[in-house]
Amino acid sequence: MTLTSSKSPEDLQSATRIVGAGRRPEWTGPVVNPPVWRASTHLYADTAALAQGPRTNEDGRFFYGRRGAPTQWALADALTALEPGAAGTVLYPSGVAAIAGAMLTVLRPGDVVLISDNAYDPTRSMGTGLLRDFGIEPRFFDPLDIAAYEAAFCERTRAVLLEAPGSLSMEVCDLPALARIAGEKGAVSMLDNTWASPLGFAGLTHGIDITLMALTKHVGGHSDLMMGSASAGPELYARLRDRAQQLGNVISPDDAALALRGLRTLHLRLAHEAQSALAVAQWLSARPEIAQVLCPMLPGAPGHDLWKRDFTGGCGLFSFVFKGSDAAARNRFIDALTLFGIGYSWGGFESLAIPINPSIHRSTMKWPPAPSHEGSQHGVRLSIGLEDPGDLIADLEQALAAWHQPAG
Ligand SMILES: *Cc1c(COP(=O)(O)O)cnc(C)c1O
Repeated sequence: MTLTSSKSPEDLQSATRIVGAGRRPEWTGPVVNPPVWRASTHLYADTAALAQGPRTNEDGRFFYGRRGAPTQWALADALTALEPGAAGTVLYPSGVAAIAGAMLTVLRPGDVVLISDNAYDPTRSMGTGLLRDFGIEPRFFDPLDIAAYEAAFCERTRAVLLEAPGSLSMEVCDLPALARIAGEKGAVSMLDNTWASPLGFAGLTHGIDITLMALTKHVGGHSDLMMGSASAGPELYARLRDRAQQLGNVISPDDAALALRGLRTLHLRLAHEAQSALAVAQWLSARPEIAQVLCPMLPGAPGHDLWKRDFTGGCGLFSFVFKGSDAAARNRFIDALTLFGIGYSWGGFESLAIPINPSIHRSTMKWPPAPSHEGSQHGVRLSIGLEDPGDLIADLEQALAAWHQPAG
């Protein structure tokens, strides 16, 4: 048996690709998974071989630890196989490092970068901190206002950073339209695709130039590693790779092996989480305490139509807003939950809840999104894990009692 199917990889369903991705016999040997190659020094046969070095700079050529070894190569190869249109994937020590690596690849001093106003907060801080310090000007735009976005371009705009659904507030924007406009203006489009992964939104085939992921979330999937990735077509992949090498980015082989383990069940976890999240979102939307459920998979919720048009999957992450303006009640609700941990991050096997107030991370967009609930602003973000959804709903229900009434 070989792992090379009679079908070309592009014709296989993603579940089938996930099982085989990155398992090249020259990297795995006779075992199923690539061993953990702990290596800084790679040895050469003699000085002639050393002088010759690797003829080309690509995965699969032993050179020195910073360029990785089979464990890291197998993970990058697997992620490339899951991203239609990608020529390669660069790995970074965190999701934020991947975003910084992409920004520093495509931007130069004097350039303007357009950043989606609902992007992940550290992405926004990267614009106003790192990038501004290096002479690059960040401008925040409302991704739901396409005319304003188009008008925001100038001669110096070299790149656009998109994210959908938006962090915390979960709006879905018209990604193909925004990417097309960026292309027409000669700007590189980058998408933080952590929420959907390529299984839920194949970014490059929708016109995005660079897709980014925090592998920390779904790909790792078990809340025990930090990592990021950037995938692109041939020209941008080569530039991302060079810049990552100049920045000294490298990931540990142990983490690469963990991420590969997580990746093998990614499709199952995403499907289960998305289904449970929809059940929880439906239940919440019928509750009298809740002003708005912000879940793209929920029919009638903001962004659902675009999600349905462009996405092929969802995940367990969504938000909701309580009626009224009682922050203490919202916090009592979260504190009363027993099956949800309180913590940042998401996409692990276990459910999490955090209080949110996106208005402090916005320049142009309004929070909460729907104008019909003025006064409501205290939100909660849930990351639904692999627990039984009925148990999660029962936990949410008992915690709503604490929202109504402080414990006597
Ligand atoms: C968590 C997250 C990141 C950053 O990933 P880290 O690995 O924590 O640096 C980037 N984008 C989104 C949307 C995230 O949720």
